[in-house]
Amino acid sequence: MSDPRPALIQAITDTIDWDVIIIGGGASGLGAAVEAVTRGYRTLLLEAHDYGKGTSSRSTKLIHGGVRYLAQGHIHLVRESLHERGLLKKNAPHLVHDLGFLIATYRFWRLPFYGIGLKLYDWLAGRLNLRPSRALGRQGALDRIPTLKPKGLKGGILYFDGQFDDSRLAITLLRTFEAHGGVALNAAPVTGILKVSGRTAGVTFHDDETGKVHTARAKAVINATGIFVDAIRQLDTADAAPMLTPSQGVHIVVGPQFLAGSTALMVPKTSDGRVLFAVPWHGRTLIGTTDTPMPAVALEPRPLETEIDFILATAGAYMTPAPTRSDILSVFAGLRPLVKARAVNDTKKLSREHTLLTSDSGLITLTGGKWTTYRRMGLDIIDLAANEAGLPSAPSRTESLRLHGWSESVPADHWRVYGSDLREVLALDGAQTALHPSLPYSEAEIRWAVRCEQARTVEDVLARRLRALLLDARASMATAPRVAEIMAEELGRDDVWQVRQVEAFRRLADGYLPK
Ligand SMILES: Cc1cc2nc3c(=O)[nH]c(=O)nc-3n(C[C@H](O)[C@H](O)[C@H](O)COP(=O)(O)OP(=O)(O)OC[C@H]3O[C@@H](n4cnc5c(N)ncnc54)[C@H](O)[C@@H]3O)c2cc1C
Repeated sequence: MSDPRPALIQAITDTIDWDVIIIGGGASGLGAAVEAVTRGYRTLLLEAHDYGKGTSSRSTKLIHGGVRYLAQGHIHLVRESLHERGLLKKNAPHLVHDLGFLIATYRFWRLPFYGIGLKLYDWLAGRLNLRPSRALGRQGALDRIPTLKPKGLKGGILYFDGQFDDSRLAITLLRTFEAHGGVALNAAPVTGILKVSGRTAGVTFHDDETGKVHTARAKAVINATGIFVDAIRQLDTADAAPMLTPSQGVHIVVGPQFLAGSTALMVPKTSDGRVLFAVPWHGRTLIGTTDTPMPAVALEPRPLETEIDFILATAGAYMTPAPTRSDILSVFAGLRPLVKARAVNDTKKLSREHTLLTSDSGLITLTGGKWTTYRRMGLDIIDLAANEAGLPSAPSRTESLRLHGWSESVPADHWRVYGSDLREVLALDGAQTALHPSLPYSEAEIRWAVRCEQARTVEDVLARRLRALLLDARASMATAPRVAEIMAEELGRDDVWQVRQVEAFRRLADGYLPK
């Protein structure tokens, strides 16, 4: 097979002037990219590492209104997120599905308290509600989650939210963007902001595979680099004051036996006043998260031992048997791009969830928000960019835009993420060859990731096209040589490339094992 990357670089260098350039290929950048290209704007997206490499592959995997925001009284935010949840389920039924959540209670008086709150949650979702919440007695709660600690259990409230696979949604947005004529490139960090008469007029970027530096011009440049927005703002204005303060959230992944079913557990108030989820995900149990202020940003944030202890202790207060350190298959951390209140001029702040900022030179920065509202964020930023750059006005089409692979008849297992592409994936070599006995993946998926999804490294495949690194870090390390071999075949790489890829992946994966 031939390498698809040279044609992408050619498409970029052949274009003299873009309408919009987006820096960053996470939820924010990809959402903005789909919004821009479907309005007819010529759009280029540049990603430094890989789509979803940042915070967007490290979430709790929920498309949700946020029961926590409801408790805090942020009704508008909850309503907006529930609306987006409903739209996404319609526009990507292969990626978002309903999941039941149980709030288990050990005190009688809490049942009506949570019951009324979740009826309000249902009501705020309006006609896009998934399924109505309801109270369960003690036995009903145990039927849903047989591993709940039975002593003192009074019952629970069952409510519904959406669940998804975050980096697969990122890849689906990439494919949607490309299908509408957008051009996107990974391993392409932006290294400079181009100015003409003091106005932002484009970017320079580095092709990490060839070492070449390229220039791309555009009418509007959007900085959607998540926790890295300050670095890009400082390329634009050297003395720009930092606007972010990162906060870390950790998840652990353990076997399915800790929930023993398909219902998630929601702990509404942890000892530090937050919520904690234990959710069934790809045949495992994902438990998190934490909220730890961090002094600096990092591409590969590392979980703190205290965060792992906190998750194990909180989950252990509800589950029997309690998960222990030796049960952990993988542990991963993500950084929330929290905006410092004083960094934002209120008149430029369009929503309390996400923040938009235009610099004096015209660079537009988008940060904050959550996966659930990526479409709304994209809509807001493209409205602003079109206005600032004088692009012809065009209505948004994303409210009812079906995402790539849209299909309602999808299998319930891991194959569902391919949607209508599934038949083509299954037709590739290795569709019947399992990658590893304890992982759900087949060798054909590696070929698909390289040919159709811009996977460039073993990490791209095992961390984000497939979720092997998060599901079982040790098993993912064991598969790395075979993944490198298949990729080398697809991309025409030599043995040295394979050895380096395997070494780099094993170093990375070691950080996903508890110490
Ligand atoms: C622990 C945790 C749990 C969460 N759970 C949920 C959840 O369940 N549901 C939900 O809706 N939301 C959730 N969120 C929020 C959501 O994940 C984030 O808001 C969202 O992923 C942020 O996306 P982003 O695109 O802004 O940033 P990122 O995903 O970090 O993307 C930024 C991208 O910019 C790239 N980049 C950086 N510098 C450059 C450069 N110079 N040139 C080019 N590219 C560059 C990076 O490589 C990166 O890929 C959670 C967040 C955390 C931390």
